[in-house]
Amino acid sequence: MTPRTAPLHEPMTSRTAHPPSPRNPPVTTRTTRPIPQESPPVTSARMLDVGKLFAARLQAARARPYLATALFALHAVESRLVPTMAVDRHWRCYVSPAFVDRTPVEELAGVWVHEVSHLLRDHHGRGDRVALERGLTGRGDRLRMNIAADLEINDDVYGDGLPRPEGAVEPRTLGLPEGELMEDYLRQFRLGPYTQGLVWLDCGSGADGLEREWDLGPEGANALSTEERDAVRFRVAQGITARPGSVPKGWRRWAEEAFHPPQPWRELLGAALRSAASGAGAGEDYTYGRPSRRATVLPGVVLPALRRRPPRVAVVVDTSGSVSDAELGSALLEVAAIVRALGGRRDLVSVLSCDAAARVVGPLCRAEGLTLVGGGGTDLRTGFAKALRATPRPDVVVVLTDGQTPWPRARPACRTVVGLFSRARPAARSWDENDPDYVPGRPPEWARVVTIG
Ligand SMILES: [Zn+2]
Repeated sequence: MTPRTAPLHEPMTSRTAHPPSPRNPPVTTRTTRPIPQESPPVTSARMLDVGKLFAARLQAARARPYLATALFALHAVESRLVPTMAVDRHWRCYVSPAFVDRTPVEELAGVWVHEVSHLLRDHHGRGDRVALERGLTGRGDRLRMNIAADLEINDDVYGDGLPRPEGAVEPRTLGLPEGELMEDYLRQFRLGPYTQGLVWLDCGSGADGLEREWDLGPEGANALSTEERDAVRFRVAQGITARPGSVPKGWRRWAEEAFHPPQPWRELLGAALRSAASGAGAGEDYTYGRPSRRATVLPGVVLPALRRRPPRVAVVVDTSGSVSDAELGSALLEVAAIVRALGGRRDLVSVLSCDAAARVVGPLCRAEGLTLVGGGGTDLRTGFAKALRATPRPDVVVVLTDGQTPWPRARPACRTVVGLFSRARPAARSWDENDPDYVPGRPPEWARVVTIG
């Protein structure tokens, strides 16, 4: 991973080919120059210094005890094809003996943590999904995914006993904000002069889903099964949730979501958008067609210009007495995930807490800082009405509820997504003080209904 000392040849330059297209015009001749196809030379005939490698892992586990289970679950594989260290989705870590030789132990510790972070964060699975969703099929796209995944990891992984490996790419390297996810970073840069120093960066198929020549594959030795991988993730997440004290925010969020994976809001809101708007490009938030204003501030980094406004979303959260604190916690995680799906545009999300009366909580300043009030009976119709009266009007209304509510009779003017808390309801309680026999109906036909974990 760490572009500390570039190899003589760029071993993965075949991945850097950046196919010219209307959306990806070539920006420099450097990234599209003819590519040497031969394998990298064997740079060291020495044996892998296993003692040094494992001393570094121990140091990594001491510096980040909450990741220890994952660090020790990795199976090291010596490889002379890999430029530095790289992982595959089966939790193998391929290690270059020459890289271990030339890298100080404390920096190697940082690399261990970095590589295992790709696997815990499922960058390979997410890379596959984002490639499918956005039609990212070029080999250069996978390099961009690797860089974007590194940005997600590196913004808070170093320091506090773990030196930042020299040359590790961070959001500020590309003039981008910290604290975002790979999917978001991926929208905000493309290969160009600023990233050409990273063209040989390679954290392996575990970082972006693209198979590498050194991969041993699912049938090879020492692969972790899907169940074992889940068990490792679960244990790490459990450890973080139990003792969140010194754990950075990014990891705390990861651990919360490992237990409550949020809805695929990009898809849910995107589908709403595509059906609401017509014409080419509907649902596509960004384009590289025009450079954005920030691009002129950062020569060499081409930032996408916003072509069409992401949707305005009104979230109505059921805060009636029948909703538990844990469910309200899940609701807040979903709100945070909606904000991320909108590229971090908190200003586009408003939140109403609603029992029998609707109270406006947002515009959203910080998802984490929201206070939801309520506790009375439930009638989400007031929340609907209030959301739809807002100016500017929302493009999508999201309702997070246990479903114990009357629903509006008429289809609202905009798309509606209903997130139902998944628990089974005790049937004996009455939900309408004025009508003890009231039995709530299913959400109406016109709403897209999803289950909130
Ligand atoms: Zn990486």
